[in-house]
Amino acid sequence: MNTKKAQENLPESTPVYYSLILTRSYNIYIAYFAIFIICLVQMGYVKNCIPVLVWIAASCIARKNVNTIPIRWNLLFYVCISVGWITYFIYCYGWNCGGINFMMPLLLVSMFSIYDRLFNKIIFTIFLFFLRMALFFNCQLNAPVYSLNDEQMLIMQIVNTVLSFIIMVLVCITFSSNLQKAEKHLFLYNMELQQQAATDPLTTLYNRRRMEEILKNHITANPSENFSIAIGDIDFFKKVNDTYGHNCGDQVLTDLAKLFKEKTLGLGHVCRWGGEEFLFFFPGLNLDEASTLMDNIRLAISDLTIVYKDVSLHVTMTFGLEEYDYNSSPSEMVKHADDKLYYGKTHGRDTVIF
Ligand code: GH3
Ligand code: MG
Ligand code: MG
Repeated sequence: MNTKKAQENLPESTPVYYSLILTRSYNIYIAYFAIFIICLVQMGYVKNCIPVLVWIAASCIARKNVNTIPIRWNLLFYVCISVGWITYFIYCYGWNCGGINFMMPLLLVSMFSIYDRLFNKIIFTIFLFFLRMALFFNCQLNAPVYSLNDEQMLIMQIVNTVLSFIIMVLVCITFSSNLQKAEKHLFLYNMELQQQAATDPLTTLYNRRRMEEILKNHITANPSENFSIAIGDIDFFKKVNDTYGHNCGDQVLTDLAKLFKEKTLGLGHVCRWGGEEFLFFFPGLNLDEASTLMDNIRLAISDLTIVYKDVSLHVTMTFGLEEYDYNSSPSEMVKHADDKLYYGKTHGRDTVIF
């Protein structure tokens, strides 16, 4: 499987998407404070713009440093700026101007934070709850510092609702898309690992473990279906290694694997069973059918010219073939096939024994 594909779906690392969320949130905060100043000037509260300028400055500084300071400090600044603003706003303009809306994005950011333990999240939620209650009861008991008329309150309510909603959506989208990316990445990575665990790296054929699994699954799923297996071993392979070197031996193994893949395509499976041994599995084929096929493969092997550097060579293989007797386990079948292979080795090689 493609690693490239897996990398494309790589989720952002946690600090990266956190700084993304905070940067975007600060951008909206800055825009919000600017809109708020315009509203205040329109309403004639010019002096009230000074504290808002302080929040603009704080947001700008925090935004500028998002990528340079540790994420925990970033989150703390974000909480301070937000909580400070909510408290100040409600204290000055009252409960009905929608300042409390900014508590929701704050709660979301803290809930999605993987930097905090559950205990800290619960404590923070309780803190927000009590802050909300305190602000609410304060508004019930005391009039706001500035009493706005209905129209002014409506404007503030709209500005606060819209901008807090935008921040909330933004936080949710960033977190959820990153989560989806992470899930997809894990899925692809898992598939890649599974494939690696089932493949022989030199020949890219299935490995022994995977073939054992295939055989077991096949017998479990089709207990009454006939099938055949064949084990093959390269003749005098040690001589190839000794004469032309180990790399040449590897070339023989990869060329043979390619040939096996072609010859068994759509008919069965083949794996690298051990060093220079291969196991073939033909579901649905009886001994006669499988022996014809294996003999074809055997002939194709002896016809195959293997080229390594300036050396051209031929190899042969000996096979032991076994048909399912509806009783034996895969390992018993392999043992029987192996006995036949041994017989073939001691009776001239380059043959299929069945
Ligand atoms: P026979 O006809 O009786 O099978 O003789 P042989 O020489 O093929 O048998 P033997 O078991 O003596 O030798 C097998 C050799 O296979 C020994 C080992 O070095 C070689 N071999 C096993 N795995 C690899 C591999 O991955 N690459 C290479 N190049 N050689 C390997
Ligand atoms: Mg051997
Ligand atoms: Mg051999």
